[in-house]
Amino acid sequence: MKILLLGKDGQVGWELQRALLVLGEVVALSRHPASTPYGTLSGDLADLAGLRAAIGAVAPDVIVNAAAYTAVDKAETERELAHTVNALASQVMAEEAKRLDALLVHYSTDYVFDGTGTSAWKESDAVSPVNYYGDTKLQGEQLIVASGCKHLIFRTSWVYAARGNNFAKTMLRLAREKQTLNIIADQIGVPTSAELLADVAVLAVQKTLANPALCGIYHLAPTGETSWHAYATYVIEFARHNGETLAVEAINPIATTEYPTPARRPLNSRLDTQKLCKAFSLQLPDWKVGVTRMLMETLNK
Ligand code: NDP
Repeated sequence: MKILLLGKDGQVGWELQRALLVLGEVVALSRHPASTPYGTLSGDLADLAGLRAAIGAVAPDVIVNAAAYTAVDKAETERELAHTVNALASQVMAEEAKRLDALLVHYSTDYVFDGTGTSAWKESDAVSPVNYYGDTKLQGEQLIVASGCKHLIFRTSWVYAARGNNFAKTMLRLAREKQTLNIIADQIGVPTSAELLADVAVLAVQKTLANPALCGIYHLAPTGETSWHAYATYVIEFARHNGETLAVEAINPIATTEYPTPARRPLNSRLDTQKLCKAFSLQLPDWKVGVTRMLMETLNK
């Protein structure tokens, strides 16, 4: 089997480079041109013609897209680029997947929902993004579905990895530098490891190739829930318990309204994963399992 991976150096892309190898030949691209057995190819999602040419040259059985414009606040002003990368490039991948009869694996976000209420969002719930990033990710999903290609779209939340920048690492850095931290306590969600996303993708690809009726949109996150404040407290207490010298003395809970950002964030990011677990006979771990593993890796460096 031939797999084309786009966005190989992101948090999820990096883990996918490892995980996908068990399925077959992996051609992994970033935005920079690279020499491959199929010629010099670029996986720049802002270059739609180049992207189409790269997919055509590889002619993969599976396209996995881990690339995205993920700068949520910057997307409010850099609209054209965010739209091209998150929406139009997804359309190109979907059209090419349809033409090649390939399976397209794509990642989306809980930010397609408006964050109201306290229930976990189901795949069938009404979408209504509150920021432009969420809007472009939703458009990407809709263009993929409309193309009629075989697809797996995983909506996830609060992604982290040992490699790359993320909230937990930022908290560790700030805890070393500052005595007081003010952290948002009224946004609720589930931290999701890039490792889990990659491992589930491999399993889902295998099962979907054998049974294309499994194609669709799925919510994917570990079990449990937390707030940014409780997440930060867990990370910092774990680090301190493991002998890290930290300056922080107080971790104060604050409201979203006390920390204005260019892009609005949904308050309720909970995702209901029953559809995924049932379709792929999966059992998902508690969110603390992956965060603890990542902390052990990060702190022991
Ligand atoms: P990262 O920001 O870690 O990685 C995104 C990757 O996309 C980077 O390697 C980046 O490359 C690449 N990229 C950006 N623009 C382009 C471009 N024009 N052409 C090619 N590559 C480009 O994101 P994650 O791994 O965390 O996200 C993976 C997926 O999960 C995305 O679809 C995202 O929307 C989704 N998601 C992420 C969440 C999160 O909390 N991070 C939450 C919910 C969903 P470069 O470094 O060169 O810019």
